[in-house]
Amino acid sequence: MSETMGETSVLIVGAGPTGLTLACELARRGVSFRLVDATPGPQPGSRGKGVQPRSLEVFDDLGVVDRVIAHGRLAMPIRSTGADGQVTMSGDDGYRDRPDIPYPATLITPEWRIEEALRLRLAELGGTVEFGTALDSFEQSDEGVRAVVVKGGEVETVAARWLVGCDGGHSVVRKQAGIAFEGETRDEVRMIVADVAVDGLDREVWHMWRHEEGMVNLCPLPSTDVFQYQASIGPGQDPALSLANMQAILDRRSGRTDVRLREPEWSSLWRANIRLVDRYREGRVFLAGDAAHIRSPAGGQGMNTGIQDAHNLGWKLAAVVNGAPPALLDSYEAERRPVAVGVLALSNARLAQAIEQKGVPVRRDADTMQLTVNYRGSALALDDRDETARLRAGDRAPDATKLATLDGERRLFDLTRGGRFTLLCFGPTLDVPGLRTLHVVAQPTGPDDIADTEGHLAAAYGATDRTLVLIRPDGYVGVISDAGDVSAVSAYLAALSWDKDGAMTGR
Ligand SMILES: Cc1cc2nc3c(=O)[nH]c(=O)nc-3n(C[C@H](O)[C@H](O)[C@H](O)COP(=O)(O)OP(=O)(O)OC[C@H]3O[C@@H](n4cnc5c(N)ncnc54)[C@H](O)[C@@H]3O)c2cc1C
Repeated sequence: MSETMGETSVLIVGAGPTGLTLACELARRGVSFRLVDATPGPQPGSRGKGVQPRSLEVFDDLGVVDRVIAHGRLAMPIRSTGADGQVTMSGDDGYRDRPDIPYPATLITPEWRIEEALRLRLAELGGTVEFGTALDSFEQSDEGVRAVVVKGGEVETVAARWLVGCDGGHSVVRKQAGIAFEGETRDEVRMIVADVAVDGLDREVWHMWRHEEGMVNLCPLPSTDVFQYQASIGPGQDPALSLANMQAILDRRSGRTDVRLREPEWSSLWRANIRLVDRYREGRVFLAGDAAHIRSPAGGQGMNTGIQDAHNLGWKLAAVVNGAPPALLDSYEAERRPVAVGVLALSNARLAQAIEQKGVPVRRDADTMQLTVNYRGSALALDDRDETARLRAGDRAPDATKLATLDGERRLFDLTRGGRFTLLCFGPTLDVPGLRTLHVVAQPTGPDDIADTEGHLAAAYGATDRTLVLIRPDGYVGVISDAGDVSAVSAYLAALSWDKDGAMTGR
């Protein structure tokens, strides 16, 4: 056993979707980090297979959305067979033809594909995952964190300014930080989940069967040869992960004998665990993703919430490493914990519905799609609008199509991509060196000019000819001023120690 010592700005523990998103966020801003994961290599298994439209927007911003969509299917139709044999077809109640919403529906793809896409992006950005490297313990002071990680019997002490636990539901970081994980475990609510090849079933739809004994589902996983098998296991029912038990459940509940399962590639017994941390931070240690909140998979929210935790924390952490006031980091818990409270309530309601109806609720709405997540009332939300306004500071910054630029037609998200602040000027303009600024004009004559040819931009932002909008690096509205108050925008940026490179550095 040997001991070495390394230094970095941020130590990220756990390379699931949350840790990988955070690593990409830091890598693209040139912030040093280490990303360690205890497992010897990438995790198998479909697990979280529903990617919500808001997460697709995050992936668009990170430059991985094409890869993710290529391995998935948007708006998978669902064929549901009731206990009486009656068949109903349904789909995602998607947002078609909306200029403000680029990704209209939930994407089905296995979680390992998401991780793969993020790892590839991370490699492009010069980062890597240190597999087979487990966090053992850590201690912190006012200056930083000293963490002990173990890799193949080698012990290393990592000195970092910040530590982020993205280490899942059993989080070592959470336990060692002494952060309580409040909630309940319901042993009687269980589900077999497995990835299996299936003979005798088409891959065009997600098959669900409701039976008085419980539900069974087979969802084809795009870009693979397998289906995700899910079967509820009630009190007294056999939870064995054997092929024989899974087949018997399918035969009984579907009433079919022509659908044959092969040996599962991956399987797991899920138990209802519904918990939320009492705080997201202890000094220099943060929690994100399942380390901070776990819930039922009904509604498909978990992985998405973790990805968005990381997207919220990433730019703030990078800014503070580069000299912005550390108080900026207080907004992470203030903005994200209420979102997790809402997600837990939604997932609980969906779980109760699933138990009662002996099937998975399939309806998707703006809440499930996470497009209504907002940070209204946050310290980082400033506007001169009243309660009746449709768009307020703190809301998701909507997209808009049909914008004419000197380079041709663009949508707003094409112009805001890349994780920086963007100032949209419908009227007065503000000259802040290094701040990406888009001027809404009748005819574009300069590189930063956009013409709102169909009025979609003004409609989405409820803009007048004086409106100024500052969009945050994570795609939420930081400032809206219908009065065209340039000093409000300047003051907002000054408080974050804005500098001319478009990064935030010390004064
Ligand atoms: C059956 C099922 C279905 C689901 N369906 C959905 C869905 O449709 N949509 C959805 O959004 N979510 C869904 N989820 C939830 C989703 O899988 C999780 O929310 C998601 O994996 C959380 O990501 P994470 O990165 O926060 O944590 P994880 O993916 O759990 O990653 C944590 C990582 O930390 C590592 N780690 C742990 N301890 C240490 C340590 N001491 N040192 C180093 N590394 C460590 C682990 O090896 C792991 O790789 C589902 C989950 C299940 C089980």
